[in-house]
Order: sequence, then structure tokens, then C-alpha cells
Amino acid sequence: MSIQQNLNHIKSTLPEHVTLVAVSKTKPVTDLMEAYNAGQRIFGENKIQEMAEKHEVMPKDIEWHMIGHVQRNKVKYMVPFVSLIHGVDNFKLLKEINKQAKKHGRIIDCLFQIKIASEDSKFGMAPSEALDILKSEVFSELKNIRIIGLMGMATFTDDENQVKKEFNLLKSTFNDLKQQQTVNCKLQTVSMGMSGDYQLAIDCGSTMIRVGSSIFGIRS
Ligand SMILES: *Cc1c(COP(=O)(O)O)cnc(C)c1O
Repeated sequence: MSIQQNLNHIKSTLPEHVTLVAVSKTKPVTDLMEAYNAGQRIFGENKIQEMAEKHEVMPKDIEWHMIGHVQRNKVKYMVPFVSLIHGVDNFKLLKEINKQAKKHGRIIDCLFQIKIASEDSKFGMAPSEALDILKSEVFSELKNIRIIGLMGMATFTDDENQVKKEFNLLKSTFNDLKQQQTVNCKLQTVSMGMSGDYQLAIDCGSTMIRVGSSIFGIRS
């Protein structure tokens, strides 16, 4: 099936409250343009340089989401245009995003990445770490970022029960942290679910899915 057909098929199955991020990492601009011409406006990339290059040549009504692990020294390259950073997993990174956003006169939306997988390799913070940040005085002074939700990645496994447990953990963490509404924290987004597990993620309360290979085909 073509990119357009894949996209239309996925969109036809999504409830209205679920946002689709088309994960286009490693794919050429021609593929992204096919998705764009089919109406897709939200793209997710996991490398800042690749995202910046694609942003440069593509239409400017696209929302670019950084879904990968972010190194502090590269934040400045995406701050002029990024619309949502999914992978904020430590306070120092958040402070750097705030500092760079301030230079550009922007307020940048971010998600806290919570570690829900049992694998060691997945990034993310513990729910208690996220809570500590939200309650801190320093956080309340960060005027150029806004925490709008949480992101998580489940363990890569065929065990649906385990994946479900991990998604439920993210959702319950979201419900707990939601009590902490402040000027720069308005939790509304739960980013979870990829090609292999987005239906399950939606059943568990996802409001934003990040789908790559089911739209663009497998990555080499
Ligand atoms: C690559 C990636 C995805 C998309 O994965 P697919 O299995 O191709 O849908 C989603 N989220 C993150 C963080 C990724 O790095």
C-alpha cells in the first residue's frame, strides 16, 4: 500500500481525541511530502540535525515533534521551530530548553518521558522524579517551557499483558501528576503507542500515538 493509503487507513481507525504523529526518521523528504500531500501535518523525528534539515526544505505549516533522546548541547538547533519535545527526561535538559526558548521569545511545549519499560536501554525518569520537578521552586520559575503531558515507551516484547501493564502505569502516573496544575504545567497529553502497539495504547488511555513503519514502511 502507498503512504497515503497507509495513512488514511490508520486515521480511519483512530478516535477523535487521538493525535497521530507520523514518525519519519530515516525517510527521505519525498516520502514525507507524500504524507503531507495526504493531509498529514505532524511529523516526529529522533535526531535534531535530520529534523532541522527536513524543516528547512519542507512547508512551514508542519508541526515538528522531537521524539528521541535529546542531548543538551543540541537543544539550540531545534528551539527556533520545534513544536513539541517528547523526550524530556531530566531537569537539566528542561532548564536548557527554557534558556534557549527564552532567547527566541518562545514558550516550548514538552512532555516528561517516564520510564515504564523493564529494559535498561529505555530512557526516562521515575514518576517520583517528575513529581519532584513539578513541585520545585526552580520549576515554577521556568517561564519559557510548558509541560503538557507524559511520554513513554513500552518494552519490546510479544507479551501483551506486560505492555498493557506498562501503558497503564503511564496513564496512572498521568492521573496522579495531573493534580499538579501550575502556570507552566497543564497535563493533557499521554504520548504512547507505536506501529505495533498503538491500538492497545489507545485502549489504555493514549491521546497521542507515534507511528512510523506502518505509514512509511520498515526502516533499513
Ligand atoms: C521510531 C520511534 C517510533 C515509531 O516506531 P514504529 O514502530 O516505526 O512505529 C515511535 N516512538 C519513538 C520514540 C521512536 O523512536
